[in-house]
Amino acid sequence: MIDLENVVSYLKDNTNTVIKDNWSFLESTGVFHLTPLDSLDLCRHLTKAELFEYPCWLQNDVIRLILEESDLGESLQNELLHSIFCLALTEKEGGSSFQNVATQVVRIDNIETVRGEKVFISNGSIADHIIFLARDSDQRLNMYIADTVNSMSRKQMKLISPMKNYDLAEIVFAGATCRCLFPNNPLKGMFVLNKAMAIERLYCSVTMLGMSKNLLSIFVQSYKTKRHMLLDNHHWKYAYADMKKKIYLLESYVSKIETTYVSGKAISPSYAAIAKSFATDTLKSSLDIVIALTGAQSIVENSIINKYDAYAKAFFNAGGTKEIMAEIIGADL
Ligand SMILES: Cc1cc2nc3c(=O)[nH]c(=O)nc-3n(C[C@H](O)[C@H](O)[C@H](O)COP(=O)(O)OP(=O)(O)OC[C@H]3O[C@@H](n4cnc5c(N)ncnc54)[C@H](O)[C@@H]3O)c2cc1C
Repeated sequence: MIDLENVVSYLKDNTNTVIKDNWSFLESTGVFHLTPLDSLDLCRHLTKAELFEYPCWLQNDVIRLILEESDLGESLQNELLHSIFCLALTEKEGGSSFQNVATQVVRIDNIETVRGEKVFISNGSIADHIIFLARDSDQRLNMYIADTVNSMSRKQMKLISPMKNYDLAEIVFAGATCRCLFPNNPLKGMFVLNKAMAIERLYCSVTMLGMSKNLLSIFVQSYKTKRHMLLDNHHWKYAYADMKKKIYLLESYVSKIETTYVSGKAISPSYAAIAKSFATDTLKSSLDIVIALTGAQSIVENSIINKYDAYAKAFFNAGGTKEIMAEIIGADL
């Protein structure tokens, strides 16, 4: 049984230490081998503690699923699960759309090597292994794995100050050797990736829901402090009601998807996309209301609102933009 409170309080006290040390701590506490139920719980605990910078769920559930469904073999999969991973999909000229992927794998005498460039990769500068999306010699998309000791360069990207503890990297593959995860079935590779992305979007939704709930509390506190100087209290009462209504609806929708996930069933990509899209809208409108109420305080350097604003922007994009969610939701038309 893992003490989630202990994990959260360690991370809260150590946000300024080297990110890799925090990941070693997470591994030694067994965080990367949690059940989906505990893993979702950890995500909620971290969000409640305003720690949005640990996408350990990416390692936990998203990457584990890809590894487990791959053709790597059980012993290698188990060995790999004790390392730090990143999932590299995005490219500079590619954005959210997989169709734009240009990273190319070449196979000569049974050895596969990769050239290409990936950007905005969470855990990218600290990972031991990279799982990435690339094209084979027939230009089909497939999933691959490479060790980071290989021919590649990695650079941490400079982020706006409220996100200084987030590890986001650019990775340039310069002929690194790699291994295909689904050598006989590229379509299965894409199917598994979409399944994994649905889990990622569930976690984005859980985090954005938690952020919106925290913002509701910030709203209440700020309202109490400012009540005497507000001329139109009704305006704020309606704003509060609007925020609460959306958050409650989102919570019931997300909890249905969580139940499916915890019971071991696959999450529908379109339900996950609806949740992420709705969570994005809810967080955006909650943030607008809180920024309006907190006024000048929201532009002060160390204001907590800045952190919410920065991470909201990150979550709107991470895992695919609003248009990509709309593409997935509308795919059955
Ligand atoms: C904190 C964070 C962590 C991330 N972690 C990872 C990671 O671990 N691995 C990884 O691979 N990537 C990661 N990303 C990248 C993320 O997945 C991309 O930012 C996302 O896919 C969007 O790509 P982009 O930023 O290039 O924007 P684009 O997709 O180029 O979008 C730019 C603009 O075009 C709009 N747009 C996009 N598509 C369409 C369309 N079809 N129709 C109309 N308009 C459109 C968008 O809404 C946006 O306004 C991360 C990003 C962030 C912010």
